[in-house]
Amino acid sequence: MTGRVIFIGAGPGAADLITLRGARCLAQADVVLHDALTDPALRELAPQARWIHVGKRGFCDSTGQAAINALLVKHARANALVVRLKGGDPSVFGRLEEELEALAGAGIAAEVVPGVTAALAAAADTQRPLTRRGSGRSVALSTAMTREGALRAGRSADTEVFYMAGKQLAALARRLPAAGWSVDTPVSVVSRAGWPDVLHSTHRVADLAAASLLHAGRPTVVTVGAGARAVSPQRHGIDVPQGLPDPVETRAA
Ligand code: SAH
Repeated sequence: MTGRVIFIGAGPGAADLITLRGARCLAQADVVLHDALTDPALRELAPQARWIHVGKRGFCDSTGQAAINALLVKHARANALVVRLKGGDPSVFGRLEEELEALAGAGIAAEVVPGVTAALAAAADTQRPLTRRGSGRSVALSTAMTREGALRAGRSADTEVFYMAGKQLAALARRLPAAGWSVDTPVSVVSRAGWPDVLHSTHRVADLAAASLLHAGRPTVVTVGAGARAVSPQRHGIDVPQGLPDPVETRAA
């Protein structure tokens, strides 16, 4: 018997940020291969399944990735439904390409269920929209780390969200001006977005290094540019035009 594999984005934190579709698929799983950053409470959605922890951190562990690929293939050959549960969204810095390729090579069918990526959870937690009318027309999700483990900072959008930079905030701060960000550019740093113990700090590029201690040892995203700015309170009351009809309520039949 060869089964299939469903990749599910668990979301960035608390278990209730998974999608309904993801939760329904989990309830059908025979085996769940999960990452380190997924909430243990998600187990309640698949008590029937065998849960196997395959977490690894960082780039350097290529044997780890090969072992995960092999495990996926092995379990899909022996079970009807294998879930590969990944933190955030599987398509964002999730090594999905390698795992899809391994399955395709073995002739195993795969499906992907999206999840909430860390950048979006950080924007929600801090109420800082990633796009802004007029000033924030584009968003880039960037990794600060190259495959070789070097740090790279870029400027490819009005709002740039850096993943995997938590350990190197001071170095990132030094690189940002060279990438074209002025030292006054607002920066919003969020660690453990989507969790009850989320931490948020705000900076300018010039003083970003000060964030290092606060977020040390926690998964962190760094938002630079338009989307890092706090929304400004409206200075005047909102004028509600008189004589407008009430919106029509719609109800499910
Ligand atoms: N697929 C994941 C990203 C995995 S890469 C997603 O879509 O979110 C791991 C990096 O994601 C971490 O180094 C950190 O930069 C970021 N990250 C993951 N979870 C996070 C969280 N809850 N809060 C802040 N950053 C997080």
